[in-house]
Amino acid sequence: MIKLLSCDNPLIVHHFKNILIHNQIDCFVKNDQIYSIGGEVPVGIFWPELWIYDADLLEKAESILQVNSTQSTCVPQSESQEPCSTAEQWLCASCGESNDDNFFACWHCSQLK
Ligand SMILES: [Zn+2]
Repeated sequence: MIKLLSCDNPLIVHHFKNILIHNQIDCFVKNDQIYSIGGEVPVGIFWPELWIYDADLLEKAESILQVNSTQSTCVPQSESQEPCSTAEQWLCASCGESNDDNFFACWHCSQLK
């Protein structure tokens, strides 16, 4: 197992997880349940983390998510931990949900942009 990224927004971490699973990369989110105590501990320690089971798939996972995060919404663990930013939105043609511009698939129904 290897940690792919961490992010202060658990919704985005779960969105990335869904994208990776959609691409047949088994992964899981860590720390999303203890995120609520994050305000009482140093920033970053308890951010939700996205881990993948097969470390050999790390490069593939990074390349998939970098396609989505041209605005560096969430950065890979090897880079600095910047907070998530709110980018422009696009509306899902399938379910009408609004999504950040740098996501290529709807967070709600996984419909491609
Ligand atoms: Zn949708």
